[in-house]
Amino acid sequence: MTKISEETYEGVPREKIPWDPKIDYEKCITCGKCVDFCHVGAFKFEEKDGEKKTVVNPNKCVVFCRGCEDICPADAITHPSEEETQKIIEKLQKAKA
Ligand code: SF4
Ligand code: SF4
Repeated sequence: MTKISEETYEGVPREKIPWDPKIDYEKCITCGKCVDFCHVGAFKFEEKDGEKKTVVNPNKCVVFCRGCEDICPADAITHPSEEETQKIIEKLQKAKA
């Protein structure tokens, strides 16, 4: 099983893997459910100009997890294609070999 805190995934540095939740701010209602739900703390609130916003720390997101998509009441969270991400990981693995 993949450890949630590791900085590499399948031998590839985590920050090179483009897997993270994207928030559609047109839909987001800043309810905070994703902040509470994500067990690795990939979401947090940020306050700017007196306005609260939910933001993402992309590298914290567990590669291929999609858990928060289902709990967002506004359907505001999406992730990239698993197939495309897998291809990128394989390319990076080959480049390293
Ligand atoms: S759960 Fe959805 S609507 Fe609520 S703060 Fe997160 S992204 Fe926004
Ligand atoms: S997909 Fe999983 S790890 Fe990533 S932000 Fe959502 S709940 Fe957290």
